[in-house]
Amino acid sequence: MKNNPQANWDILKDAAWKAREQAYAPYSGFKVGAAVETASGRIYGGCNIENVSYGLCNCAERTAMFQAVANGERILKRIVVCADTPEPVAPCGACRQVMQELGPQMEVLLVNREGKQILTTVAELLPYSFQDFPQREEPDKGDM
Ligand SMILES: [Zn+2]
Repeated sequence: MKNNPQANWDILKDAAWKAREQAYAPYSGFKVGAAVETASGRIYGGCNIENVSYGLCNCAERTAMFQAVANGERILKRIVVCADTPEPVAPCGACRQVMQELGPQMEVLLVNREGKQILTTVAELLPYSFQDFPQREEPDKGDM
């Protein structure tokens, strides 16, 4: 785990908790929030969005990353994921793979309501990942 106490995560954490308020989780009741900061300095929030056809549910992390990309962002710097769980919530495998493609250099902060947190990276979350993106337009080489 990385330890970077210098970085100010408070604004991003607040944005993630605020995004969580919009969670649409009528089936599980499990609300998750996320917020991505991009190289431009903008922040994009996301929440989980469920569907009666469960396979169509979308996680907060992907909602936030897709929001950023849909707004023209191509370099994602860091992401916060929050939930009201006993331990900081971990991204699912699908979200880890999307992080690998859209923000491979991202720092990832996982937090819960009690303030427990884990600071990690996409590389730590998804070692030996599938990384061959022949169609990719502009790789994020992490020069931020
Ligand atoms: Zn997920």
